[in-house]
Amino acid sequence: MTKLDPEICLKIKEARRAAKLSQSVVANEVGCKQSALSMFEQGDGTKLNEDVINKLAQRFGISLTETAAARTAAAPVVAAVAEAVRVRGFCPNAHCPSNKPYEVDGRTLVLPDRLMADPVGGKFCALCGEILEKRCPNCGASVHDGAICSFCGDAYVAIG
Ligand SMILES: [Zn+2]
Ligand SMILES: [Zn+2]
Repeated sequence: MTKLDPEICLKIKEARRAAKLSQSVVANEVGCKQSALSMFEQGDGTKLNEDVINKLAQRFGISLTETAAARTAAAPVVAAVAEAVRVRGFCPNAHCPSNKPYEVDGRTLVLPDRLMADPVGGKFCALCGEILEKRCPNCGASVHDGAICSFCGDAYVAIG
């Protein structure tokens, strides 16, 4: 079976305690060793076979699929975040069409459109061929959304 969620182990432990049953009583009931149950309750899902785990889950009314299902539901979101975090480069060419100028306090900054410049997370700008930057040119921090480094306040790309 797939790796058991340690959360399940903890849930079973808590349910057993709430029911005021000792490990040996429960182990007897479901047909496993107390030592195995002990290790299982500490989060090692490999210590019991699937049959015993099912019995435990049934015994304490715990769903084995719930957390896994919740995780599966969250997976596309996690993947999307990971995708966004996967650092895309910005084009250091201020005149590249991927960079959109805007004014702040009389200063012209350029808001990099990283998706436009770097749709695949590559090395070169997809629009002008410039070598993409993935770090703040001033302090070296990883770039994030926006035009100004949140670490040092420097602009990634600026005109003038
Ligand atoms: Zn470019
Ligand atoms: Zn910086």
